[in-house]
Amino acid sequence: MPTETNFFQYCPNCSSKNFTYDNNFKLHCKDCDFVLYHNIAAAVAVVFTFEDSILFTVRKVAPDAGKLDLPGGFIDPNETAEEAACREIKEELGLAITLTDLRYITTAPNHYVYKNVAYRTMDIFYGCALERADVSITAEDEIQQLVWIKRSEIDLDAIGFVSVRKVIASLVLGC
Ligand SMILES: [Zn+2]
Repeated sequence: MPTETNFFQYCPNCSSKNFTYDNNFKLHCKDCDFVLYHNIAAAVAVVFTFEDSILFTVRKVAPDAGKLDLPGGFIDPNETAEEAACREIKEELGLAITLTDLRYITTAPNHYVYKNVAYRTMDIFYGCALERADVSITAEDEIQQLVWIKRSEIDLDAIGFVSVRKVIASLVLGC
């Protein structure tokens, strides 16, 4: 497991090793004065509900492969959060939802380590009530399974990301 401070070995501008990288956030080279902000990335997640159940994905890939997650993903440049949610849902589940189907819930920060790079994200959560439970996977490279779980039967420890766990706990347990 990489630490959050060691994934840069050299200054990207001058290859010096004489730099600081405090709090996984600001790289500052002491030799050439190059500065790089590793800013928070924005992501979206959708809480689909049907009757008393919530739809989870089972992740197929790192990080947190095998753990429960929600459909969603990173927001692309020049996209709104709602557009990203609709795009990701179309890509992952083949569902055509529109902006008016989404109900804003909350935001929560997350840690996301991918190929030794530690990203800090701000996850934006939307709710979407479905009228039918028959949903299928279209992104089979990312998702190994879809599961509807009754609110009373959700095991929070089976959820991978801390942001998702926090929001689901809040929705289900009111905490
Ligand atoms: Zn430098």
